Amino acid sequence: MRESMATIGGCVSYARRRLPVCEADLLVSRSLALPSSHLYAFEERAVAPAATERVVSTVARRVDGEPVAYILGERGFWGMDLEVTPDTLIPRPETETLVEVALPLIAANARVLDLGTGCGAVALAIAAERPHAAVTATDIDPASIALCRRNAGRLGLSVETRLADCFDGIEQRFDLIVSNPPYVDNDDVRLERGDLRFEPRRALLGGPNGGLDFLARLVGAAADRLVPGGWLCVEHGYDQGEAVASLFGEHGYRRIQGHRDYGGRPRVTVGMNGGYVADPEGRPS
Ligand code: GLN
Repeated sequence: MRESMATIGGCVSYARRRLPVCEADLLVSRSLALPSSHLYAFEERAVAPAATERVVSTVARRVDGEPVAYILGERGFWGMDLEVTPDTLIPRPETETLVEVALPLIAANARVLDLGTGCGAVALAIAAERPHAAVTATDIDPASIALCRRNAGRLGLSVETRLADCFDGIEQRFDLIVSNPPYVDNDDVRLERGDLRFEPRRALLGGPNGGLDFLARLVGAAADRLVPGGWLCVEHGYDQGEAVASLFGEHGYRRIQGHRDYGGRPRVTVGMNGGYVADPEGRPS
């Protein structure tokens, strides 16, 4: 088997026997540090043993189910190349829906908070689209904050980062709060068997019985961190749309609207902070 991997073409066949063609070719080209066009143009060219070993181990990781984004250490999101590590979720296409829904609600110089930013995907997409906005990104995990900062630096985007558990220690108010929070049910079978197996539980688990505990905490607490008339914009599970809309309603949000992702599934809910502000005499103004 190894003999046949002495050339570029041999490595490609090895990978293609084990993986779908596009994944195989991508992983081989990265393992050999060659543009993918070279895989086809220089099939006969010899490959050093160390490079062959990289192909074998990379293919093995993928065969074991590890996401390509973790193997390559990067993922595209909103037209940006982001570094990703197993410390954070891999940004997903449905989270681009979150950005799409939030953007029209963000004025040029708005104050925006991305709560639970992970690798920084949402905060950085907003910073790229609204260069004059003041974008703050929080996360409970120091490694995620460091990763967000690296991504911001690489992309030349300006985002303020804060280490925080939900809103703890966040004093100021924002015009818009956006979040892709943990919302997977603690008992979701995908956590053991499926594509979620490699991602951090901290970023996924939303609680038992439906995965809505963190969303409930977030929706409740966000009202105090939004200006009157400010917007909350959250991602949630495809089957959580109604429950999330009810949470928004219970906490006095208005103009509550659900949005579907590119797969047609309910995925994002927005609402405007009710704007209830008690005056010094305690009357609602
Ligand atoms: N979108 C992920 C999934 O359900 C979950 C992401 C999250 O919990 N924020 O596969």
